[in-house]
Amino acid sequence: MVKQVPDSQEVVIDPVTMNLNRSLTRNVTNRADENALEAALQIKDRTDAHVTVVSMGPPQAETTMIECLARGADRAILASDRFFGGADTYPTGLTLAATIKAIGKFDIIFAGEETSDSSTGHVGPGVAEFLGIDQITYASKVEYKDGFVTAERELEDGTEVVKVPTPVLVTVLLNSNVPRRQTLRRKIDAIRQGFESWDHDKVGLQPEWVGVRGSPTIVRKMRPIKEKERAAKKVDIAGIPDLVKELYQKGVIKVESD
Ligand SMILES: Cc1cc2nc3c(=O)[nH]c(=O)nc-3n(C[C@H](O)[C@H](O)[C@H](O)COP(=O)(O)OP(=O)(O)OC[C@H]3O[C@@H](n4cnc5c(N)ncnc54)[C@H](O)[C@@H]3O)c2cc1C
Repeated sequence: MVKQVPDSQEVVIDPVTMNLNRSLTRNVTNRADENALEAALQIKDRTDAHVTVVSMGPPQAETTMIECLARGADRAILASDRFFGGADTYPTGLTLAATIKAIGKFDIIFAGEETSDSSTGHVGPGVAEFLGIDQITYASKVEYKDGFVTAERELEDGTEVVKVPTPVLVTVLLNSNVPRRQTLRRKIDAIRQGFESWDHDKVGLQPEWVGVRGSPTIVRKMRPIKEKERAAKKVDIAGIPDLVKELYQKGVIKVESD
């Protein structure tokens, strides 16, 4: 599962509507999804696996679809329909799960750990739940052998190794591998091959279940966050009592009484 996201260095917000101006924003493939695709391609390198890239997004996600084919995917499907617009994570997961189900039998679904634009990390686990399959999250290393996936999971206090029978969904950590490059030859082949665009009918979902109508959450308002005033001051040890007094008077620090 691969999502096209706005390049976080070049996000343009419409000052009137406060919405993201997608036509002025450069779009790129979500970086953790490049790692997810690479993890899938490494299994394809060692087995007879077939890798299909699935995305939900507007038509401009075409560039991401071609890029994934040029990196080595066998097939690319973009679930794209005006009814899918405005989806929160619930219908996003539902739409991707329905698309994957409509493709047919699968062994492993790879997703990134999260996206750089909304970064909820909901979608991978949501898809696993909709499909009723096991999930392995935050994987840094993924191996497949004889119907089992063995993965290393990075946790706060160490690494956990889990072995799970397929079918399974794995969310892959950002920078957990080095994504292979697209060659010019492969890019030309990818453009020739093209990708498939599926609407809600083809995905098998009713318009009221997807997009903004199928979303339990609604964004009512967005407002810019005011940058807090920052300052730096260098004091020697003797100056600390005066600094504390000054910060107290400015309300930066408070004294708690028992
Ligand atoms: C202005 C704004 C307001 C929003 N408000 C809400 C809100 O109120 N409630 C809410 O739930 N969400 C909200 N969202 C988030 C929006 O719904 C998400 O863009 C979308 O649901 C995907 O979630 P995510 O980007 O957090 O994905 P994550 O869960 O962080 O993604 C994890 C992985 O899932 C896969 N994935 C995710 N999305 C896709 C996709 N479209 N196609 C293919 N693979 C995918 C990728 O592999 C990705 O690495 C808002 C977004 C914006 C920009």
